[in-house]
Amino acid sequence: MAKILVDMDAVIVDFISPLLTKYNNKYKADLKVNDITQWTLPKDMRAIYEDNYEFFLDLLPIPYALDGVNHLKKYHDVLICTDSGNSFNVAKAKVKWCKLRLPEIPVIITNDKTMPCDVIIEDAPHHLDNANAKLKICVSWPWNEKMSGLRVIPGTNWWIDNVVNSLITKAGS
Ligand SMILES: [Mg+2]
Repeated sequence: MAKILVDMDAVIVDFISPLLTKYNNKYKADLKVNDITQWTLPKDMRAIYEDNYEFFLDLLPIPYALDGVNHLKKYHDVLICTDSGNSFNVAKAKVKWCKLRLPEIPVIITNDKTMPCDVIIEDAPHHLDNANAKLKICVSWPWNEKMSGLRVIPGTNWWIDNVVNSLITKAGS
């Protein structure tokens, strides 16, 4: 049984699409996901979601992600590990979101993802770099395209892919 840390934003929930919609409406811009090549977003973009309870509560799951996490939970020890940007409101929204949609999975709010584990599933380059995991799975986005190693495509059913599954199992053995 592998210990698996799973990130939330851009791994379980689609964070960037609704953010760009709001940003483009507000600033009459036309930014697309492919334009976001840095994990750290510009200040005016961050201001849209910082401390915003409703924004996080209303996020939609990435296709296949809920089934994927529940699938992994059948065989492994899964923990959702996500940052709230030091916002109490965001922390509350994230915990509520997870309790509604993934009631069986424990959640912790932290920006430190260095605890020893077998597998980390993440999109943030710095968390992947710093992780203390035997297997690092990078969920592929434009802001992490330089990361080497195992990459998977969000919105696909990679979670139950035989190759990924066997690597996860191997990491936990
Ligand atoms: Mg993330």
